[in-house]
Amino acid sequence: MATHTHTMKLQTRGEGDLIDLTDEVEHAVRDSGIANGATIVFVPGSTAGVSTIEYEPGLVRDTRAAFERLAPQDLPYAHNHGGDSNGHAHVRATLLGPSLTVPVVGGRLTLGTWQQIVLADFDDRPRSREVIVQIVGD
Ligand code: ZN
Repeated sequence: MATHTHTMKLQTRGEGDLIDLTDEVEHAVRDSGIANGATIVFVPGSTAGVSTIEYEPGLVRDTRAAFERLAPQDLPYAHNHGGDSNGHAHVRATLLGPSLTVPVVGGRLTLGTWQQIVLADFDDRPRSREVIVQIVGD
């Protein structure tokens, strides 16, 4: 059993910015030399999330609009009473979740053809983010 950990650093625009991580995660899997196991993609922080999407402009727009319907920015959030303005971002991040697991088979991620790994940054300002990619297997 081997473990390979790769830390991605990226700048986001916030406000529901969706960033395609697939190429860099695939690179990390190749670099790891691990043929069979699992890849964990995790974002530290409570206003961002990780998931998969078909990364095309229409669905990027649709997904951002869906989160605005689920947790509208202009509702009164208890979190904002302390002076914060990002209650909606925390709620959206909790709904999406901070991590994703993708099985690795034959040295490759088992993603579908139209399935990309994305980071969603829901915060109400641009952020510097780290995303941890950990590949575990043989
Ligand atoms: Zn906050």
